[in-house]
Amino acid sequence: MSSPANDKIREMTNRTNLLGLTSAELNSALIAAGVPEKAAAMRTRQLWNWLYVHGARDFAAMTNLAKDFRVHMADNFALERPQVVTEQVSNDGTRKWLLRSSPGIEFETVFIPEPGRGTLCISSQVGCTLNCRFCHTGTQKLVRNLTPGEIVGQVMIARDALGDWPSTGARPKVAAGFSSGGATRNTSNRSITNVVLMGMGEPLYNFENVKAAMALVTDGDGLALSKRRVTLSTAGVVPMIARAGHEIGSALAISLHAVRDEIRDVIVPINKKYPLKELLEACRSYPGVSNARRITFEYVMLKGVNDSLADARELVRLVRGIPAKINLIPFNPWPGAPYECSDWEQIEKFAEIVNRAGYASPVRTPRGRDIMAACGQLKSESVKLRASERLAEMRSAELARMPS
Ligand code: SAH
Repeated sequence: MSSPANDKIREMTNRTNLLGLTSAELNSALIAAGVPEKAAAMRTRQLWNWLYVHGARDFAAMTNLAKDFRVHMADNFALERPQVVTEQVSNDGTRKWLLRSSPGIEFETVFIPEPGRGTLCISSQVGCTLNCRFCHTGTQKLVRNLTPGEIVGQVMIARDALGDWPSTGARPKVAAGFSSGGATRNTSNRSITNVVLMGMGEPLYNFENVKAAMALVTDGDGLALSKRRVTLSTAGVVPMIARAGHEIGSALAISLHAVRDEIRDVIVPINKKYPLKELLEACRSYPGVSNARRITFEYVMLKGVNDSLADARELVRLVRGIPAKINLIPFNPWPGAPYECSDWEQIEKFAEIVNRAGYASPVRTPRGRDIMAACGQLKSESVKLRASERLAEMRSAELARMPS
């Protein structure tokens, strides 16, 4: 029986979301929806181009496709990005979006504009399991892993908001090489030039979905970001590091933060499972590591905890032989944080030791602190609900969306 309310439910429950599928999955979905096998490959290419090159948000916009085909697609499929709940703009130009993909699933994405580049910091999980003592996200329990569509959706939403699809041209663009292997599309002059997996969550605890999403982000016929401009940051899930190199192929950043196991065990507790020696060994053998593709070691400066000059010397000793950059991050405070940021002079002295040993040691300028968008400040209100609570919440959201 068809009634407006029934149709609405069908719309919410039955239409497969195409966002986040691989092209093979998209191809199969089209065939399952009755597209003749002979035509499916071409249709897949056309849809792919609309979705990931032009950022189309609905089938109606795909003007070179026959109208009845578009209607058929809209009847069967959705092109759903997460929704923007709030957008905040810092007085330094950093933007933060709070996104929601379904009731109770909220996560944050941050865009950091700099001269000549624009970095998008994306989340891989809602909440986190790691409990790093200085990290705000660590105070939010893991709710769940983000799906490939939710991860790639963050890049697409940022492009929507920044007018960063080709031929939309809403804003002046920074010049930067936005290249991909062999693709000759209009991929220069983009606002987003780099993507870093440094938002909420531990990407290597959501390996398959992050891998699938990064394949979409770096697809030469789609979003076309070069792999060199994607950086995956991990707190040190050692057994997954080599796989990340082989299968994702992005640049690697390691949240090091301490150079002695006694201290790292406390501030980055995953160290108890995978201590420094194993972590550094995995870095040494990271696939593709070279002077042209250095590993970034992130080191948060915590007053009186990890910022002594002896720590700086030990840091240099530990990374010796690894092509490395060392990124010193002034600690960004958050309500109730048990640490303070090191004094500026101490950070400079620390940086100088690292620098003299031959490593670039840029101190990361805090960005977006006024909107709680700086490193380690991200957190959403999402909490893990019991299955029964989630079901009740979904039902009431459905009821609220139904026409009365
Ligand atoms: N789980 C991954 C991805 C998160 S990256 C990882 O740990 O690498 C977020 C970065 O910001 C990490 O280097 C993290 O250690 C750092 N960070 C966390 N809290 C911070 C804070 N309060 N101030 C500065 N940096 C922080």
